Amino acid sequence: MACTALFALALLVFVTAAPARESALAGKTIVIDPGHNGRNWAHPEEIGRLVDAGTLRKPCDTTGTRTASGYAEPAFTFDVAVRLRAILRTAGATVVLTRRSNSGWGPCFTERAAIGNRVRADAAVSIHADGGPASGRGFHVIYPPSILGLTDDIAAESRWLALVLRASYRAGTGLPHADYVGSRGLSVRSDLGGLNLSDVPKVFVETGNMRNAADARLLERAAFRQRIARALAAGLGAFLSGR
Ligand code: ZN
Repeated sequence: MACTALFALALLVFVTAAPARESALAGKTIVIDPGHNGRNWAHPEEIGRLVDAGTLRKPCDTTGTRTASGYAEPAFTFDVAVRLRAILRTAGATVVLTRRSNSGWGPCFTERAAIGNRVRADAAVSIHADGGPASGRGFHVIYPPSILGLTDDIAAESRWLALVLRASYRAGTGLPHADYVGSRGLSVRSDLGGLNLSDVPKVFVETGNMRNAADARLLERAAFRQRIARALAAGLGAFLSGR
């Protein structure tokens, strides 16, 4: 009897909570930035051009990392981005990707940030997978510190976005917090132009460590990438419902 009552209560919570989650995303604009691009490696001069990252000048893009078996980070980030876009659109959000395919180069991080600013995104997420030490595993979320005249307008909200995404990613994927970088799945960085140049709340999610065998096995699996996309969508919904 108690079990039946509990089940009924759980079901009630589920059906009443589901539309609330959807309405948090409905009408919102979200920018998804799939890190790198599939042919960056063929354009060393273009992506090597130094551009202003706010706190320093650095190459406009990089090639990204890959797993030991050769699954490349740009292919991974694009696949997750497309999966995430589908989920967010179903929930009523307008979604803008910073690149249309995985067969070109760039854009530079300056343009990746500018896209979010132009559409006045309610939230922006850069998707990456790390090339850390093979012995280290897990995910981490990167957000900017408050830098006067640069990120002071988005630092607090970006930190909140990072906290919410860390929780949803951990719960949704089961991956541990990174044990080789940051602290408890979080990292604050002032050297990322994609964050420094953003005027909308933005974080980078380093979804796992491609150089670690256990993480790589998961990231290479399509079903797990769908799980990643669902976890990120849940986090974005939670972030936007709290705004
Ligand atoms: Zn990356």
